[in-house]
Amino acid sequence: TVQQETHGFQTEVKQMLHLMIHSLYSNKEIFLRELISNAADAADKLRFKGLSDGSLYENDAELTVKISVDKEAGTLTIADNGIGMSKEDAIAHLGTIAKSGTADFFSKLSGDQTKDSQLIGQFGVGFYSAFIVAEKVVVKSRAAGADKAEGVRWESAGEGEFTVSTIDKDTRGTEITLFLREDEKEFADDWRVRSIITKYSDHINIPVQMFKEEVPESDGPDGEKVPAVPGHWELVNKATALWTREKSDISDEEYTEFYKHVSHDFADPLKWSHNRVEGKTEYTSLLYIPAKAPFDMWNRDQAHGLKLYVQRVFIMDDAEQFMPTYLRFVKGLLDSNDLPLNVSREILQDNKITQSIRQGCTKRVLQMLEKMAKNEPENYQSFWSEFGNVIKEGPAEDFANKEKIAGLLRFSSTADESGKQSVSLEDYIGRMKEGQEKIFYVTADSYQAAKTSPHLEIFRKKGIEVLLMGERIDEWLMSHLSEFNEKQFQSIARADLDLSDLDDEESKKAKETAEKEVEGILERVKTALGDRVENVKFTHRLTDSPACIVADENGMTTQMAKLMASAGQ
Ligand code: ADP
Ligand code: MG
Repeated sequence: TVQQETHGFQTEVKQMLHLMIHSLYSNKEIFLRELISNAADAADKLRFKGLSDGSLYENDAELTVKISVDKEAGTLTIADNGIGMSKEDAIAHLGTIAKSGTADFFSKLSGDQTKDSQLIGQFGVGFYSAFIVAEKVVVKSRAAGADKAEGVRWESAGEGEFTVSTIDKDTRGTEITLFLREDEKEFADDWRVRSIITKYSDHINIPVQMFKEEVPESDGPDGEKVPAVPGHWELVNKATALWTREKSDISDEEYTEFYKHVSHDFADPLKWSHNRVEGKTEYTSLLYIPAKAPFDMWNRDQAHGLKLYVQRVFIMDDAEQFMPTYLRFVKGLLDSNDLPLNVSREILQDNKITQSIRQGCTKRVLQMLEKMAKNEPENYQSFWSEFGNVIKEGPAEDFANKEKIAGLLRFSSTADESGKQSVSLEDYIGRMKEGQEKIFYVTADSYQAAKTSPHLEIFRKKGIEVLLMGERIDEWLMSHLSEFNEKQFQSIARADLDLSDLDDEESKKAKETAEKEVEGILERVKTALGDRVENVKFTHRLTDSPACIVADENGMTTQMAKLMASAGQ
């Protein structure tokens, strides 16, 4: 007797299924891309494990994805001979969502279907997308190297639950059968399926095959016999790893589809850069900048990094060592000719080759951003609003590229009332007043607070631009930036601020008189405040407010002091 267990889906899976079925109807065919993508991942995982244990291949080393349709039954089946799943794997992977930050993500959904459907795309739909077109999905799988009796059968109608049972399965790998909904039978159509495969899966590093029925013997035009062609599995996609092909032969659509495969992102990428590096270290990199920040970019445990291949063999996902942290949003892959096939995360950690590749990749990304900033300012602005706060970590982390990174920064400023972070340091310097030596900025708890800072009064009066910084990270950023293009940064909240170079003779005289007039008041305020302040000084920087608090020349700014206090220091 077959023991059948029933399990409930994780709450988030239920939410996802519901949302997906109701919102992705305009783009249904992507389910096939997702399932082929999983099959290709499963092949990659087997190739990797096979490096150290050849027996996992079970004398069947030709990895393929075979797709078959049955029009009468209304089914579509995707079978691979990759790594496969055990029963426990199936319960865990096809019953939950394993991504970090999942619960957080789902708590953000608004209930508004149009908005949420965009979010769900960003989240990535994966295996569950099968239910967009199927009323029932049956998965049969067996892990590579496991006993034939240790197969698993998983079945679900995509509602609240799924069942699993143990089955015999002769062949290793996973076979997924979709029982198509009444109005989705087109996906049991041979040519329709072929066209979807070429559209989405050409670049996949594994042959995707469909069965070609036998063509019986026939009569040729001159009465001779044309021999029968027996039924056979026929290659449908190109099956060459995209990154190994010549750039000039690859279309934007192919790059875009490939991005979706490596990133598990649903949306198109913003930009990419594909490079073959030859010389001392040899590698190919294909680096993508996503259009949208992942919902968990600020989660410290969030997986990031590149997919690593060595001589075209997949080695690992999320190799973090090839990208600095401030570029952690970059997706893509790296194929090295120099690293050993048995390379581990530990080996990568402290390795000359890693370092040199990392430098190369960092340079590529910064160049790509520089180019975008110059030639496609609108795209760059959209990049900045998604990832600007991550880039701001750069100057502290990457000393060697500090100047380059500073050039990529964008700020709000008194010159742009919209509040958008759109001003580059170059723009600022170009607008500096005659006699102005420094780049002035103010940091505060929010853009609004920065914009209304009393420190700004004199600058507004003199028409001097000030950068307005209201993000938490800004104070940290400014503590690592001292100059740009030989112009020093100057917080306008510091005591040593001296704008007298910008004064004319008349206003200098007026100031001197004013200073004498208030001497008595200064003493009285000093006595009244006592230990609570370091000093009380006369200032010319205010025009409307009677007083303001400033930090001393060498000490922390008030904003930094707040930051430290909130970090418990
Ligand atoms: P993702 O591909 O982003 O991990 P999916 O929802 O597409 O998410 O798949 C979930 C998990 O199910 C995969 O990570 C994998 O562990 C497992 N899985 C799905 N399809 C296969 C397959 N064909 N062979 C082996 N494992 C699979
Ligand atoms: Mg997937």
